Amino acid sequence: MSPDSTSSPEPMVGKPVVGKGRPVVRRPDVDSLFSINPDGSRNAIHPADVRGRFQLRKHLLWYVLIAVYLVLPWLHIGDHHAFLIDIQARHFYLFGNTFNSQDFWYAFFFITGLGFSLFVVAALFGRMWCGYACPQTVFLEGVFRRIERLVEGPAAARAKLDKAPLGAKFVRRGIKMVVFFLLAATIAHSFLGYFMPTEVLLEAVTSSPALHPTAFVFVLVATLVLFVNFTWFREQLCIVICPYGRLQGALYDPDTVLVGYDHKRGEPRGPAGQSGAGDCVDCYRCVTVCPTGIDIRNGTQLECVGCANCIDACDDVMAKLGRPAGLVRYDSQRGFETGKRRFFRGRVVLYSVLLLAGLGAFTLALTRRRPFEASLVRAPGVAYQLENERVHNTFDLQLINKRPGPRKFTIEVVGPEGAETMVASLVVELESLENRRIPVHVFLPQVSFKQGLRAELRVRCEEPDGVLERLASAPLLGPGRRRH
Ligand code: SF4
Ligand code: SF4
Repeated sequence: MSPDSTSSPEPMVGKPVVGKGRPVVRRPDVDSLFSINPDGSRNAIHPADVRGRFQLRKHLLWYVLIAVYLVLPWLHIGDHHAFLIDIQARHFYLFGNTFNSQDFWYAFFFITGLGFSLFVVAALFGRMWCGYACPQTVFLEGVFRRIERLVEGPAAARAKLDKAPLGAKFVRRGIKMVVFFLLAATIAHSFLGYFMPTEVLLEAVTSSPALHPTAFVFVLVATLVLFVNFTWFREQLCIVICPYGRLQGALYDPDTVLVGYDHKRGEPRGPAGQSGAGDCVDCYRCVTVCPTGIDIRNGTQLECVGCANCIDACDDVMAKLGRPAGLVRYDSQRGFETGKRRFFRGRVVLYSVLLLAGLGAFTLALTRRRPFEASLVRAPGVAYQLENERVHNTFDLQLINKRPGPRKFTIEVVGPEGAETMVASLVVELESLENRRIPVHVFLPQVSFKQGLRAELRVRCEEPDGVLERLASAPLLGPGRRRH
């Protein structure tokens, strides 16, 4: 076993509950949060080290994810960021696709699809997302806890340090806090890179806060929030705040694969060699490695984030005892009870259909998306003017280039017949996502004016594979006509 388990068999025993007699050592139960003491104070969880097949897989995945989370804002596809929600410019860049604020409705289908993909994962494998891919877990377990282990030692030493006077832990805790703060600041800056172009971010970092006050305040607040979260709040985020965690109970069914304890095989628990005892030797190792401080032998609990630490810990114990692995394992309630498993069920099919509907609608909307917008809108001010027996209507042709690169537009006057139409510019070149208003004046002899006449312009856009065109039109207003 690891040094943790031998040097301190129960580093995670909580604050003793003092009654009339001797203090009773508190152990995790299903009626209370083990991370909160009965007097309301925090019971810091220090999970012991654990090794095993799931740890290896998780750590490999975490390093890939950390690289993705931190590097993604800096990547470019073509002329644009690979992923950027540019709040100030109200532009969005998603893997080569460019969107402006008018396209925000696409987000509904995209987020719906993503949301149902989490539902499918939860219905099939419980909180696998939480234990393997959630940024909270990835950074807490993959970065912060590892640094804490390096600076303060194993779980028992960390628990001891918690109780030590300030003078005795000042240097170690101080080093840890400084490193944690720098890491929190790094993550906060990377996080801001999802909402602000990284070139502007770099400029903001290297210039006075007065030049970018909003970004400065955002990074300051995000750094403090991340620092408090990863230093102190930790598993409470998953247990108390995360809405996905709260939803889990509604998403599970008896066939959902979860981390669980095989009661049939393990009970009655007792020391190895005791006659009639099950396979659980009550070594408490599965509890000491749990980052949320629960005893998986008490059954499925809301606090379990599906990290599989207890599986690796128990498999290790079983290997040492010469017993088969899997006393604690991934299995469904039905699997534990009957040995049978069902993969396809009604709710999995329903969530999958909703997931495909959301992503399908998003993909369809993307493929049918207009590459540019051209609309004729009445200019602010008077509805029309009478000048030398001519009706004068003023419009703005609003052009938006939604392509990832610059495009050239040519404008042609189509109607109405008999009118003199003046367009400020008949050839316009727009950068990607550039939005420009081009003044348009339409003069029509008063005698020719009648209700229903429309000003019409044809806009052509030169694409590498051909020419796209759109007709922009708006009603003409004149004397004796009511404005539409
Ligand atoms: S389930 Fe496994 S790790 Fe947990 S107490 Fe029993 S034998 Fe030990
Ligand atoms: S019970 Fe096991 S899987 Fe669940 S959080 Fe604790 S160690 Fe991880």
